[in-house]
Amino acid sequence: MYTNSKTRGSNRVPNYSSGNRFSGNRNGSSGRNFSSRSGGRNKRKSSYEKIDVSRFISKSTVIEKEEIYLPTHTFSDFKIDAKLKLAIANKNYIYPSPIQDKSISHALEGRDILGIADTGTGKTAAFLIPIINKIISNRDETAIIVAPTRELAIQIETEFNDFVRGMKIYGVVCVGGAPISAQIRSLHRECNIVIGTPGRLVDLIKRGEIDLSTTRSIVLDEADRMLDMGFINDITFILEKTPTDRQGFFFSATLPKPIEKLIERFTSNPVKVMVKTRETSKNVEQDVIRLNNGADKIDTLCQLLDKEDEFKKVLIFSEMKHSVEKLSVELIKRGYKAGSIHGDKRHNDRQRTLLRFRKDEINILVATDVAARGLDIPEVTHVINYEIPQTYDTYVHRIGRTGRASKKGVALTFV
Ligand code: AMP
Repeated sequence: MYTNSKTRGSNRVPNYSSGNRFSGNRNGSSGRNFSSRSGGRNKRKSSYEKIDVSRFISKSTVIEKEEIYLPTHTFSDFKIDAKLKLAIANKNYIYPSPIQDKSISHALEGRDILGIADTGTGKTAAFLIPIINKIISNRDETAIIVAPTRELAIQIETEFNDFVRGMKIYGVVCVGGAPISAQIRSLHRECNIVIGTPGRLVDLIKRGEIDLSTTRSIVLDEADRMLDMGFINDITFILEKTPTDRQGFFFSATLPKPIEKLIERFTSNPVKVMVKTRETSKNVEQDVIRLNNGADKIDTLCQLLDKEDEFKKVLIFSEMKHSVEKLSVELIKRGYKAGSIHGDKRHNDRQRTLLRFRKDEINILVATDVAARGLDIPEVTHVINYEIPQTYDTYVHRIGRTGRASKKGVALTFV
């Protein structure tokens, strides 16, 4: 069991704020757009699973022999436009990741792709590269990318913008929690790609602002997460609006039955690519924190956070939006460099907080599962489950935020 001894640390500082680098910007011009002519939903299916606490403990920090993947392609082998090759090189991508290596050449031939892969595998570039290449060769091409959360949608947009810099190819992010009127205005301007969350996309389709009848590519990113979040009807609705002969890219970490059925219905003979994701427990040391009767939970947490040499970058999970907010407010009050992301926060606030966490301006981020889903935040040293997650699957996703890129991480769960 994880024990805590008290040391005062400088994880505490006064408040400050910073800017936001995540603003999508482009010039208005006429050309390809999605517009021909409700209600963002966020239904959440709740299924409580009784989890054996022993599953939160794992001292087995065996140093794994790193498996070295030898790609069969280089990026220059792919039959893609030279400008795109240059953009890939500018991102310092030298070798394709396994999912890119195994799927891009098939995708370039127009095949449907089913990728069983998690965040961190390079799946975003695996679908963006073939789609952008299509657009370069035909400026009338459009694509829709459906992602479970605003943060993931914006992460995809950031990578998209890196790839299309200077090419006059534009994307629009349409997510819930951000003003719909601005999104509608953007849709009326030139854009080839819409990246959005299911509820908002359905809303815009129903309003006649997104017309998918000529869309040539659709991506479902983290399909299993969208199922978990109650979006199955929305994603089915979106898929039904696309032509039957469009190309589909389906990515999912797992393949639950409803997603399997969806893929069967909406793809034809897809190329299946499975990328072994690292067993989280291999890189993440897991332990529990038992609160003795009468011990104050937040004091116990602070005793851990005060060990600043260890707890350098900490992601804390709590179940409900209000408990996340309450905890982060209390930590800030106690002088810690903390912030929070959850569904009740304004979109821009969430982006700003994430950026501050990425840039180490704050080192403690308190989050709900939904808000933190799919985020690629490097160098998180500790994940703390301030409240036990509802399912073991959620637990695995949470602790997967640490121990990335072969680094060791620690996951602690209050029980
Ligand atoms: P993703 O799974 O798409 O979220 O990507 C995870 C991380 O890997 C992101 O930070 C990407 O920028 C990075 N990445 C993707 N493909 C490559 C590549 N071929 N070489 C190096 N880094 C990559």
